[in-house]
Amino acid sequence: MKRTKLFLPVILLVCLMSCGHLPKEYATINDYPLYEGTDLGATYYATHTKFRVWSPAAQAVRLNIYEHGLNGKPLAVYGMNRSEKGTWTYSVKQDLKGKFYTFQIQKNGKWLGETPSLWCKAVGVNGNRGAIIDLKETNPQGWETDKRPEMKSFTDAVIYEVHMRDFTIAPNSGSSYPGKFLGLSESGTRSPEGFKTGLDHLKELGITHLQILPSYDYASIDETQLDKNEYNWGYDPKNYNVPEGGYSTDPYNPVTRIKEMKEMIHQLHANGIRVIMDVVYNHTFVGEDSHLNLMVPGYFYRFNNDGSWGNSSGCGNETASERLMTRQFIIESVKHWINEYHIDGFRFDLMGIHDIETMNAIRQAINEIDPTISIHGEGWAAGGSPLPENLRAVKQNAPQFYPIGVFSDDIRDALRGNWMDGNKGGFLVGNGYEESIKFGIVGAVSHPQIDLTKIVHSQTAYAKTPAQVINYVSCHDDPCLVDKLKATIPEASEQELIAMNKLAQTIVFTSQGVPFIYAGEEIFRDKKGVHNTYKSPDAVNQINWSNKAKYHDVFNYYQQLIALRKAHPAFRMSTAEQVNKHLTFRTQDKNLVSYMIQDYANGDSWKTILVIFNGNRQDISYTLPAGNWTAVCEHGKLNQSGLGTYTQTINVSASSATILYQP
Ligand code: CA
Repeated sequence: MKRTKLFLPVILLVCLMSCGHLPKEYATINDYPLYEGTDLGATYYATHTKFRVWSPAAQAVRLNIYEHGLNGKPLAVYGMNRSEKGTWTYSVKQDLKGKFYTFQIQKNGKWLGETPSLWCKAVGVNGNRGAIIDLKETNPQGWETDKRPEMKSFTDAVIYEVHMRDFTIAPNSGSSYPGKFLGLSESGTRSPEGFKTGLDHLKELGITHLQILPSYDYASIDETQLDKNEYNWGYDPKNYNVPEGGYSTDPYNPVTRIKEMKEMIHQLHANGIRVIMDVVYNHTFVGEDSHLNLMVPGYFYRFNNDGSWGNSSGCGNETASERLMTRQFIIESVKHWINEYHIDGFRFDLMGIHDIETMNAIRQAINEIDPTISIHGEGWAAGGSPLPENLRAVKQNAPQFYPIGVFSDDIRDALRGNWMDGNKGGFLVGNGYEESIKFGIVGAVSHPQIDLTKIVHSQTAYAKTPAQVINYVSCHDDPCLVDKLKATIPEASEQELIAMNKLAQTIVFTSQGVPFIYAGEEIFRDKKGVHNTYKSPDAVNQINWSNKAKYHDVFNYYQQLIALRKAHPAFRMSTAEQVNKHLTFRTQDKNLVSYMIQDYANGDSWKTILVIFNGNRQDISYTLPAGNWTAVCEHGKLNQSGLGTYTQTINVSASSATILYQP
């Protein structure tokens, strides 16, 4: 996430300081006891509903029951009872199904605002009140047999990042559920030109993992005004354990959003695609009045020494993952998404804000369920934090939180240019960065032929194995690939841009590590040159499905590229030792990187593979090693069954990749 939110930094001197009114047993907020029970929030039974919240320093807690998720006075208000480990409980001995609830705590003699608490698992419209439902009734048909598609190694993954709304909101998507969860579970949709769209498109392309932008309940879209067609990426969490209402067909009915998200996941699974969820535990949309802070003021956030809110998220607050109950909350939340929704992986937004110990604890908890569930994240923060960097899950500390993956901003910026350098461009436009491209090729592991002092952002080989690094050239942040190239070389023809687009992804898909693409790049998507589209209208963000006919050659190339990677384990080695043993760089001239993978690496059917990347904007003549070579990729075409045989030299077109092999 990189996003600037338009609210003033909230400077508060309350928080830690005002905890002078803590009950005697808690000298500081860090003395609050850990409650490890899994029954926080509301637990529904036909005969009664049990409520439990954790708020150790509250003077009193009350529970409000409502008829609706919005408006109206409470049907009943109950005083909750102090219970173990800082919790408060109350059991309402009626069938409350369909009713709504909030909690309020009393602090310094004053009642704070109402909150469904951070633990609620169902909400009414806009997520202001918790909903009492029977979770079993949210299961779609066939849910009992829903299974995670098989995955042997994370390096086998092909990740495709998509925003729910972008994918199906354009009328030419042919979707019956534009912009909704159900849009992704629908088969048979076609563009006006007759090409597959939606789920069928994903299958045709051959991806293995769909990474969905935030789909928990976020705050920026008013769910009572969905006809206004507002847009947001959703990096503004409100309720972590509930799906976003704007993606459901009825945000007022608390069952609908849950059932429809499950249906989406079920259909993706049935079609062999795993689902990775983008999670944003690093900050909340608002600080002081968030559901977290209204429940336990000051506890869930970091503060600077002067009492001001920590802001390493750039959004006005940052959570304190190192506090025991915050850590406990994140672990239980992730488990909820796995157990209740069958989520297959997590992408941690600004993971560099979280402490290493918490990330390892999350990994451990997930391993106990299924070690193939993946975790990766952004190994950086958006600003300084009160928690020292050596304790945080930033990229350079990656060996300490192996096997959690990190995005390689090194290969990204080597390809397209350092993000701090404006539109200067990178290897793709003939602007060097050869050493960083090599570092990307080996999957950010240590390799004797790489000079780490020349890498764009890193001085260390941070990946323990290639599975720990996500390779990409663009994602939702910053300009998409086409817009970036256009901004970098405005004089280039579309044919040149297409060549560079193909070169970019050929490098991503043949590099060791985990390849990641941003939705629509395979059909030459652009976002009208807008760099930060987090709240841009559909006209900017939507995928224009007519591009699939117009740029069908690009689509075919991506499809072939994915098929090549899947067919050749040499591009998917799982250890640093394998990479060091089999992969050697050959020549290196200005804007030229080439390497060989030898000796049937990782069980490949090809004995030797030679890969040549020409970032120059002119053709070059390349001297081949001895013997006959079969080209499977050259001049912007890719075909595994061979495009030609060469000895001695080969012509490599401007801005293109050539891949050859010896059987
Ligand atoms: Ca919402």
